[in-house]
Amino acid sequence: MDHIHDVLIIGAGFSGLGMGVELDKHGLSDWLIIERDDEVGGTWWANQYPGCACDVESQLYSFSFELNPQWSHTFARQPEILAYLKGVADKYDLRRRIRFQTAATAATFEDRHGVWTVTTNRGDTIRARSLACCAGGLSHPTNPKIDGLETFAGTMFHSARWNHSAKLEKKRVGVIGTGASAIQIVPEIVDKVRTLNVFQRTPPWIVPRLDREIGAGEKALYAAVPALQWLVRAGYYWRRELVVGPALIKQGLLTRLLERMARAHLARSVRDPELRRKLLPSYVIGCKRILISNDYYPALQRPNAALTTESIERIEPRGVITKDGKLHELDVLVLASGFEASERAVRFDMRGRDGRTLDDAWKNGMEAYYGTTISGFPNFYLVPGPNIGGGHTSLIFMLEAQIRYAVSAIREMRARGARFVDVRPAIQANYNAKIQRRFEGTVWSSGCHAWYRTANGKHTVLYPDLTARFFLETRRFDAENYDFVADQTRERGTTPAESVTAARSP
Ligand code: NAP
Repeated sequence: MDHIHDVLIIGAGFSGLGMGVELDKHGLSDWLIIERDDEVGGTWWANQYPGCACDVESQLYSFSFELNPQWSHTFARQPEILAYLKGVADKYDLRRRIRFQTAATAATFEDRHGVWTVTTNRGDTIRARSLACCAGGLSHPTNPKIDGLETFAGTMFHSARWNHSAKLEKKRVGVIGTGASAIQIVPEIVDKVRTLNVFQRTPPWIVPRLDREIGAGEKALYAAVPALQWLVRAGYYWRRELVVGPALIKQGLLTRLLERMARAHLARSVRDPELRRKLLPSYVIGCKRILISNDYYPALQRPNAALTTESIERIEPRGVITKDGKLHELDVLVLASGFEASERAVRFDMRGRDGRTLDDAWKNGMEAYYGTTISGFPNFYLVPGPNIGGGHTSLIFMLEAQIRYAVSAIREMRARGARFVDVRPAIQANYNAKIQRRFEGTVWSSGCHAWYRTANGKHTVLYPDLTARFFLETRRFDAENYDFVADQTRERGTTPAESVTAARSP
């Protein structure tokens, strides 16, 4: 019979690598990562568009167990973040347990043995007691739903699948979208191309990017005195928790101050009142992700740049046709149109207890307990899962809390000699009802159209509170909210139902 791993991890990005390190830390070294790409890094491997950088300070957007004194800028660029993750994989000896170019196509839980069987695109199967889906919340790029998109005769690609062989020099380039990716791409390419046409559907709120180069002296100081770097990290964390977080979680004075800051940035950066009007959002700040940039507004004012706010009617071989009937002729079309994040965090067929599918469990929208465990899908951990995204701070902080929680669950199950551990349905339902209620009064419920919500309006992406709360609530694994089903090899003669009672915590 095939070897049964303790844990199978899907994805070698921040979450998957962090999970591997945490498992090793607790002596659980029989784990395997499968990764669909041929390198570690996840989103930081996939997104290689010009200008790609983190919009959270790198001192904070990094693992707590692996601070990097060498960050070159406040906001590291993609190559540096990717190098950091490669370094983590090497330093913690993770690579030999990563199978690259291997994607999960289905996962089925066998109740009887308490084992997940995962089939892969290579046609093989891998078995493991626990399964951790660390495949990322933004790993499925979506093309804009525009008639005729596929008929475009020039070069067309998504921002997350940048075509490095496409020549932009002296070309007429169009960018669809004005989200976090587009505003980083536009300033990088505007001076290379003949013309740049940015197609905007909704303007983003943009605040200044307080970036600077970190000098050699400062780096040496961080390397020599790690406590100092911790202090800097804590400063970023608490500024985001105590100022930006509250501005988003409860609409009020802080929200208005943030909005005023963004308005002043726009007014300072754009002189032409007509362009300013087009760039001024009409929704509450934070309802969509707040962007940071100092060079996006100036880029739009270059003589070869244009901002088109007329809606797109359709795309034809020569370019984009807007509702006013105008044809915008293009050689290259960049689709900076985002990702599918709110509807489905798991992209392969999943069957839990009694063969129930995850699609069925999530027919009213995704949900999980602490965004991590799902009732009826025992020994399964989703990192990041539903309602884990941060509107105001570093996602890595949330991922690490989830990872610690998941590994505690695995350890508890082993300590009890249980076959599987499953969160109780009522606990999950109550948790999610509370999460949805906590969105009332937040900026995310103020009525904009954002990918944070499903088509039915359910909030499935963001965590509606301070991340410190999540940290405190998940720092101890709450075994009392789970059913532990005993291992039949130990509890011979008991039915699974009897075993549940036998193994429940007192
Ligand atoms: P996004 O924020 O979802 O932006 C997509 C853009 O495409 C929006 O402006 C959207 O307009 C537009 N769009 C979509 N369909 C369209 C259509 N049919 N016609 C016209 N416009 C259309 O995607 P993203 O910029 O790739 O960013 C996604 C997320 O990735 C970010 O929010 C962030 O979490 C992450 N990210 C992070 C960083 C970082 O620095 N850490 C960098 C890049 C991305 P509407 O607004 O009208 O929908």
